Amino acid sequence: MFTHLANLFFEQSQIIPDVEEGAIQVDLSVNRNADGLLVGKAILTQDGLDYAATFSEMEEDGDDIVKTRQLKRVYSHILLEVLEQATGMQQSWGILTGIRPMKLYHKYRREGHSSEEAQQILMERHRLSSEKSALLAKIAKVQLQIVPDLYELKNEVSIYIGIPFCPTKCAYCTFPAYAIHRKSGRVENFLDGLHEEIREMGKWLTERDMAITTIYFGGGTPTSIEAKEMDGLYETMYASFPNMENVREVTVEAGRPDTITPAKIDVLKKWGIDRISVNPQSYTDETLKAIGRHHTVQETVDKFWLSRNMGMKNINMDLIIGLPNEGIDEFKHSLAETEKMQPESLTVHTLSFKRASEMTRNKDKYKVADRETVEQMMKLGEEWNAANGYEPYYLYRQKNILGNLENVGYSKPGEESIYNIVIMEEVQTIIGVGCGASSKFIDPGTGKITQFYNPKDPAAYILTYDESIEKKLAHLNTIFPAPLTK
Ligand code: SF4
Repeated sequence: MFTHLANLFFEQSQIIPDVEEGAIQVDLSVNRNADGLLVGKAILTQDGLDYAATFSEMEEDGDDIVKTRQLKRVYSHILLEVLEQATGMQQSWGILTGIRPMKLYHKYRREGHSSEEAQQILMERHRLSSEKSALLAKIAKVQLQIVPDLYELKNEVSIYIGIPFCPTKCAYCTFPAYAIHRKSGRVENFLDGLHEEIREMGKWLTERDMAITTIYFGGGTPTSIEAKEMDGLYETMYASFPNMENVREVTVEAGRPDTITPAKIDVLKKWGIDRISVNPQSYTDETLKAIGRHHTVQETVDKFWLSRNMGMKNINMDLIIGLPNEGIDEFKHSLAETEKMQPESLTVHTLSFKRASEMTRNKDKYKVADRETVEQMMKLGEEWNAANGYEPYYLYRQKNILGNLENVGYSKPGEESIYNIVIMEEVQTIIGVGCGASSKFIDPGTGKITQFYNPKDPAAYILTYDESIEKKLAHLNTIFPAPLTK
């Protein structure tokens, strides 16, 4: 816990129990006083100077988990405050180092607090800046307009379908994305397993007459397989899943522009799927080369217009702030190019150094912008989106994200992705099928979350999908025992 916070200020900090020369010394204590208040005190000593912080709040009622959580929060609060004093750096996300700050805002609202109260709690208890608290409130408002029953979706499910192939692997990627070699038979074998998983999950959903909120094809790049293979998959999906006419949204990430062809768009149209992602990431060819994407900017633009002109009505695009060798000018250029296309939604990611990526393994090779520049780019993104009629509608953070910032999904009103909202806010079970698909089982009674991961590697998947099906059905039967009373 302390290392996470210290790392926000110092690269690869180490917590050591004893005083060492050159180390920063921090004394932390939390005590309960006679009035039932938990009082935390911190003193940080650096270069002969002392920095002090105190924080107190009423001890919460509850079990050990509640008490431990509160204790951690009080310690974090005082530690962050002395670190901010000593370094002069302000952490706009306060003590939150997790990936879902929105969930916390929703939690306070569900407990009955008004929006203003929830923002106040986030600022006082978790040390969020007023800007970030207001951003969370704004996003939640949009989410509840788009999905008014967001808090009541626990008896429905969404489906994630993972296709683990890509033309090449991007340097920052840790998704299951294997170069697509057609000769080995690996793709066909994988697809056999995927059809089977879809059929089996479909049987279970039909028996329960379960409503499906959204379906999302991700990966990898789901359009990296052939048009006829896509057609076959959608056919199985429509034949297997119940109540398809009530599914609120089906998205196919076309992600890599180099996989999009007229034949594949025809297939999407045939099945009425018109929400796709065409992801530029950057509009600078040198950057695309440096991150291993092996397609050009022109190809992104061409494939966007091909999709649009062939009838794709809801296109998302992704940009990444802080890609190697990119600064303000490159990002401004990306925004100017996006402006010409006006996709229905734009997700602005901040680069994160994921542990297993090529970029992290060879960090020295990649020169990325400093914290201040990244913050300026984020601000530019916010301003550009507001000026172009986009509203933020979902947000998440990642470990080792540049500048300790966030990823924000923006959308034109009414074009938001419902899947992005339900998965981020963890309001319902997501059944994952396919490679690397993670299933998240959320008990509608207790809210308890259990995760299950399908293997990432197609070779392992082919051997074990039967077992995965059984395990997932067992989880589903536990949290939705038959007969289901709705
Ligand atoms: S396109 Fe997406 S999934 Fe494929 S390698 Fe790049 S980041 Fe990974």
